[in-house]
Amino acid sequence: METLEKNIEVLKSKICEAAIKSGRSPDEIHIVAVTKTVLPEIIQKAVNCGVTLLGENRVQEAAKKVNLIKGDVKWHLIGHLQKNKVKPAVKLFSMIQSLDSVELAEEIDKRACEMQKIMEVLIQINIGREESKFGIDVEDAVEFANRIARFSHIKIRGLMAIAPFKENTEELRPYFRKMNDVFMKIKMLSLKNVDMSILSMGMTNDFQIAIEEGANMIRIGTGIFGKRK
Ligand SMILES: *Cc1c(COP(=O)(O)O)cnc(C)c1O
Repeated sequence: METLEKNIEVLKSKICEAAIKSGRSPDEIHIVAVTKTVLPEIIQKAVNCGVTLLGENRVQEAAKKVNLIKGDVKWHLIGHLQKNKVKPAVKLFSMIQSLDSVELAEEIDKRACEMQKIMEVLIQINIGREESKFGIDVEDAVEFANRIARFSHIKIRGLMAIAPFKENTEELRPYFRKMNDVFMKIKMLSLKNVDMSILSMGMTNDFQIAIEEGANMIRIGTGIFGKRK
């Protein structure tokens, strides 16, 4: 078995274990294969192994790859989006996981309207309140969701977060739990243009803990493709 195929097998078995531990079905957990810096031919191999969701951090990098990859795949933007890149982003991606301001939402709504598309988004939460990371404060999430709900060409599908780095990943549980709490809170509001079903958290280092605490979408780069250069 090739390394890539083996990595995916190992990943799936760990997902299975974590899902069962939290009393859920492994089928509920979606894998986004993070393809930043990965060459198209390698991405294609992952797709041939059954990967269906691909995540890119940059619009321009995705633009070069999207047409080269064959198969039934969807691309998610997982990196910060600048307003001047919204137009190509709305065109290329099936989901923008990094919505972090009302101004950005305004621009996405405008471009999606022009393209007659409803753009699916996740609200990015800066769960560790880190200077170096994008996203809104968890305390502001409910109010933010309310403000975004008025845009008719945007559909909020859930939340996304990048956890802070911790040597001991057990220390991340409170962060992930808080994400799950606010996720449920917004879901309960049953807002217009909001269909809370995706909780995107967990990367190569911390996905098992994230799943145990409620994640149903994980974003894995290194764990599939190996270390980035
Ligand atoms: C790079 C990246 C990932 C994947 O990170 P790994 O540790 O390689 O799994 C996930 N999410 C975001 C937003 C990223 O930028």
